Amino acid sequence: STSLHLMGRVAPLDDRSLLVLVEDRTAARRVDETRRDFVANVSHELKTPIGAVSLLAETLEDAADSPEDVRRFARRLQIEGRRLTDLVRQIIDLSRLQSDDPLLAQKDVSIDEVIRMAVDRNRVDADDRDVVLTAGGRGGLHVIGDEAQLATAVSNLVENAIMYSERGARVAVAARSLVLGEEEFVDISVSDNGIGIPEEEVQRIFERFYRVDYARSRDNGGTGLGLSIVKHIAAAHGGYVHVWSKPGQGSTFTVRIPQHSTREAAPEPGAGGT
Ligand code: ADP
Repeated sequence: STSLHLMGRVAPLDDRSLLVLVEDRTAARRVDETRRDFVANVSHELKTPIGAVSLLAETLEDAADSPEDVRRFARRLQIEGRRLTDLVRQIIDLSRLQSDDPLLAQKDVSIDEVIRMAVDRNRVDADDRDVVLTAGGRGGLHVIGDEAQLATAVSNLVENAIMYSERGARVAVAARSLVLGEEEFVDISVSDNGIGIPEEEVQRIFERFYRVDYARSRDNGGTGLGLSIVKHIAAAHGGYVHVWSKPGQGSTFTVRIPQHSTREAAPEPGAGGT
């Protein structure tokens, strides 16, 4: 999308502009392919819950004589319905995040607030699974960006940390700031002492719809889109996500966002310096 943005800037037709245009075509084609893949994946992923809903509706009709069965199938219909709603919402989020203009806010965001929102959203699930969910680290950090999107990213990580841990596990969300080279970053990390991720799977878990097999067999209602959304939200803020994990020990996912705020607030270095 960076190169697509360049397109608007191509004014004079010199050697450099030509080069830019060539890059744009490639980027445009890549976007096209990505979209086609995405639609194919989405259609495939929607088939399963839609099939389940049709089947459950038929079964419900046949079960009309047994109130107990009716209740049971109705409950499962509700679950499938909720799953479909979640899936569609995530697909819409993801396709917007992948577009040229992800429509993110560019405001001052309090990281404390982001973490509070993410923790609040998962409190009930944590309690249900006896998971000890804590928030800590450095307070008072800020970035420029989209508060709601950042809260979604952290919330997705917390949701996973709870989902892929045993009962009674610990999940900790923490913020810190660090300097790498010339730039300041804010790290928001979510750690669990859960089941962990096999090394050969770690690169793939950020792909759309990718789920490690054990998770699929567990059938915990995940969609395989959560981490892909996290990755795109981090990227839309100029940052990235990284993960440390060891099977049987747990995982730590870290969203790293550059602190543009401090850089932009600083006065221009050196008068006339370019
Ligand atoms: P899902 O909806 O399946 O959770 P995600 O994109 O959020 O989809 O995650 C992709 C896969 O990565 C999951 O199916 C799971 O196998 C693995 N995973 C994600 N977070 C964790 C974690 N904290 N611990 C262990 N495995 C994880």
